[in-house]
Amino acid sequence: MEDRKSLLKILVCDDDPVDRKLVRAYVKQIDDREIVLLEAGDKDEIQSALDRGSIDLVFMDLQMPEKSGMEWLTEITHSHVAPVVMLTGLGSEDIAAESIQEGAVGYLSKAGLSRERLENAIDNALRRWRQVQQSRASQEELERLARFDSLTGLYNRRTVLGLLDDQIKRAKRYDEALAVLMVDIDHFKKVNDRYGHLVGDRVLEAVAAVLSQSVREVDIVGRYGGEEFLATLPKADTLAARIVGERMRRAVEAAGMTAHDGTVFHVTVSVGISSYRSGEDHLEFIGRVDDALYRAKQNGRNRVEVSD
Ligand code: GH3
Ligand code: MG
Ligand code: MG
Repeated sequence: MEDRKSLLKILVCDDDPVDRKLVRAYVKQIDDREIVLLEAGDKDEIQSALDRGSIDLVFMDLQMPEKSGMEWLTEITHSHVAPVVMLTGLGSEDIAAESIQEGAVGYLSKAGLSRERLENAIDNALRRWRQVQQSRASQEELERLARFDSLTGLYNRRTVLGLLDDQIKRAKRYDEALAVLMVDIDHFKKVNDRYGHLVGDRVLEAVAAVLSQSVREVDIVGRYGGEEFLATLPKADTLAARIVGERMRRAVEAAGMTAHDGTVFHVTVSVGISSYRSGEDHLEFIGRVDDALYRAKQNGRNRVEVSD
């Protein structure tokens, strides 16, 4: 990060050329970093400077004609273009504080400006901006973790149930078909026992990939439990779902899994299917698919059963 100290592109937005000159005069005194100072005095100049991109920091006058400094702040901050430090006149401390809440990384009073104050404002602004960017990245990471299963990359149980709820609502409203498939790996405990947990994990990833490839774009596949997967197929009737279930079953059976010593082995899955009946909630719906899966297990595994 420190190497970025070498060149800094700062955009000063102020409708008063005297104020812009003032900032420029102090910036000139900063000699431990190279600063390129761009000036914009009106709406069009600001917009075209921002459009050209690669601005590291914006100084924005609070009182701008046409479009207010606060409006610019909101716009620039929301699009994550650059950090914004507000330039204030005398007696606007309240508005300045408000600007921080709106996402400004600092404010600077034009009265009593000095090289030190300017330099501090730049340092603090860049530091705060880095923190904001980092916490934004980790927030996105948290949201991703909350939605997806980390091993297989599929939607996790909570997400797939939420999505199923939405699909049930849609099926009800438009009186459309909706099918769910519950897919469970057969004798998976034995896979772990024989080949070890790590190979077991690879099998889960491979099965997840095979299942995802067996469905349409609009279908959803999630990891429902340890070695259990749930697929929802909007607008699919029982017959269509059975075809998908059979395709999944055959594709899993055909996929080669590799043990630590290079031996190739195969796993199979049992599949339960049910079609949505109007009036039932997702618990009843999934309850019926569970029953169908149980029957597939009872009837010898590596097979597809449809709920009656
Ligand atoms: P069945 O044919 O009746 O489904 O038998 P099964 O052995 O597949 O079913 P059971 O529910 O008895 O065992 C599931 C196993 O899945 C037990 C558990 O250790 C394993 N498992 C669950 N989650 C994971 C995981 O993330 N990684 C690995 N390697 N194993 C897992
Ligand atoms: Mg199993
Ligand atoms: Mg199971």
